[in-house]
Amino acid sequence: MNLWVLLLSSMLLARGAAYYSQTSPSDEITGFSPEAAAAEIKLETAFKSGVSSERIREYHRYFTSVPHPAGTKADYNVAQYIAEEWKKQGLEEVTIRRYDVLGTRPVSTSLEMVSPKKYKAVLREQAYDVDPHTKNPEVSSAWIGFSASGEVTAPVVYAHSGNPEDYELLRQHGIDVKGKIVLVRYSNPYSYRGFKALTAQRMEAAALLIYSDPVEDGYKKGKVFPDGPWGPESHIQRGAITYDFMVPGDPLTPGWASLPGAKRIPESEAVSLPHIIALPLSWRDARPLLENMDGPVAPKDWQGGLPITFRLGGAVTAHLKVEMDNSTQPYYVVEARIKGSEFPDEWVLLGNHHDAWVYGGVDPSSGTASMMEMTRQFGALLKQGIRPRRTLVFGSWDGEEVGLTGSTEWGEQFSEELRSKLVAYLNVDSSASGPNFQGGASGSLAPMLVETTHSIHDPGGGSLHDAWLKSTARERKEAHNLQPVTDRNVVNTRIGSGSDHTVFLNFLGRPVITLEFDGPYGVYHSVYDDYYWMNHFGDPGYKYHAAMSQLWGVTALRLAQADVLPLNFQFYGNTVSQFLDELQKNKKYDAAKLNLASALKAAHELAAAAGQTQTLLKTSMASGKLDTPKLEVVNQLLMKGETNFILPDGIPGRPWFKHILYSARFTYAHLELPAITEAVEAGNWQEAQQQTEILIRALNTETALMRQVREALR
Ligand SMILES: [Zn+2]
Repeated sequence: MNLWVLLLSSMLLARGAAYYSQTSPSDEITGFSPEAAAAEIKLETAFKSGVSSERIREYHRYFTSVPHPAGTKADYNVAQYIAEEWKKQGLEEVTIRRYDVLGTRPVSTSLEMVSPKKYKAVLREQAYDVDPHTKNPEVSSAWIGFSASGEVTAPVVYAHSGNPEDYELLRQHGIDVKGKIVLVRYSNPYSYRGFKALTAQRMEAAALLIYSDPVEDGYKKGKVFPDGPWGPESHIQRGAITYDFMVPGDPLTPGWASLPGAKRIPESEAVSLPHIIALPLSWRDARPLLENMDGPVAPKDWQGGLPITFRLGGAVTAHLKVEMDNSTQPYYVVEARIKGSEFPDEWVLLGNHHDAWVYGGVDPSSGTASMMEMTRQFGALLKQGIRPRRTLVFGSWDGEEVGLTGSTEWGEQFSEELRSKLVAYLNVDSSASGPNFQGGASGSLAPMLVETTHSIHDPGGGSLHDAWLKSTARERKEAHNLQPVTDRNVVNTRIGSGSDHTVFLNFLGRPVITLEFDGPYGVYHSVYDDYYWMNHFGDPGYKYHAAMSQLWGVTALRLAQADVLPLNFQFYGNTVSQFLDELQKNKKYDAAKLNLASALKAAHELAAAAGQTQTLLKTSMASGKLDTPKLEVVNQLLMKGETNFILPDGIPGRPWFKHILYSARFTYAHLELPAITEAVEAGNWQEAQQQTEILIRALNTETALMRQVREALR
């Protein structure tokens, strides 16, 4: 370690600081002895100083040069480019892994209103002279991943957001959607389009049209593209409707990897495969359908942002035809590593996906560009002889947009190794669509994330930590949330699904961190999410991209270099208490039917036991009593902390989702204590009781683990 200090000092002198501003990090770092912390700060300084926003812009220019949805040749080219770059950067064991998965791509789509007037939907986005990328004939027209193929001519009904309560209201108006085409809007309140599809399918609708209303991401929010960051009248939010809230990844290999020749279930048994025709629409194409309806006026909160009266249906009949090729396709995951010098079998994994609906300016190319600049720094350190103590593994996933597919198949393929070796997974999907930092972490990692942000400079001035607290306070104020922002509550510990962290947290039971900078962004999954948008609105100087490269890398370095892994189970215990408190406020919760006092007591005991353990760890480290063999034992015990919350058979009805603290609702919204909460909401009190007992046992095992750590230290 002392060698580094020397090496690093010379590196700092040798390098020009391309993008670096000094913040004053505290000289204490959780999990590091005082001497180790001093060396770590030097190492981090060297890492950060090499990050260049100009180079990130060049990476971003490449990643946004052509449309590259999963399964296309262009997407494979991106995978190959990443592999080649990683080799040049000096990363080790660069490998492209191929998975043969059930894929999805459009053959043809069309929509016409046949009565009361004729209108042929354009299903394409308007081109603008200022942005040549919008003129590319390779850009797809409107399509939805895993739509069924079919053709239907039927009446159109407006069903608001397409959630179950919306159909209930239609029923009260005597409107049955069976056999009809349902037109819904994307948000209000937000629900994942796959949930809208499943709901419409359950209602036996013939097809689903989903449009982007200007009140949600268009002119009602502000200036639209190409004059501003919001979606113009023709922007189309593509996306998949895979029921990945049931099981993500290849629908035909639930729980195992889609390697060539792997066993596959018949499509009729695949629970995540939709059976409804679906198409996304711009509001330009939805408007003629909406304004020609003559049925009952829709309720006030169903009225959209267009200057028309929204009605529930009547008069409008449309003809919709969708032809899909939902057949087996190869997806490619790129993998690389830097083998750890002292603990090669403890892995820190960093990942981002490389497939995009079109160019993926924000989603995911901003993240991919940040990643390439981050990996370049690790390669540069390695070339100078600086190897991390633990192994760093890098993953560039494919098919995230289709069903979290690449990361899921990869996680399933290496499940055994990952369960025992993975310290943590750090996910960045979109890295920057604006200046507001959003940090998420499963409970044990939240404090170390907050601590790390002190060491990152925010491009707006000051530390990222302070900027984060400020922007979060602003957001809470806007949302009329009166909770003051503190270090204890600034991290989002309510981790749902919707990106590549899912397999690592929910299937494998490993701690995760998710990082993003966001801002006004109304072009998600449309052609306008491109290089032009980023350079005019999202992050013109690529400074937030650079801050992300630094933060992502420094967070990984702390996990890779720490003497004692910075997993905080006191915080985790308190997080569980908070989840239980919130469950008691659930409208369906009945204290007479389910007593959560014992569970709360178990969570408090965990926090107390973990607090004692942390104190002892700190004093042992300060006194220099921890030698490497002892550290190894302690860290191996700490790594079991997440595993204790995993149920091998999964939560009821969703065996793939194995974490008892975290899951996602079908809408993609986060769902804490999923098994107990779903039982409470279903009024199944016996099940709720059983699941509470499972939670108490897990918490008690965790408390016992904290005692084991203390014993190992003595
Ligand atoms: Zn994404």
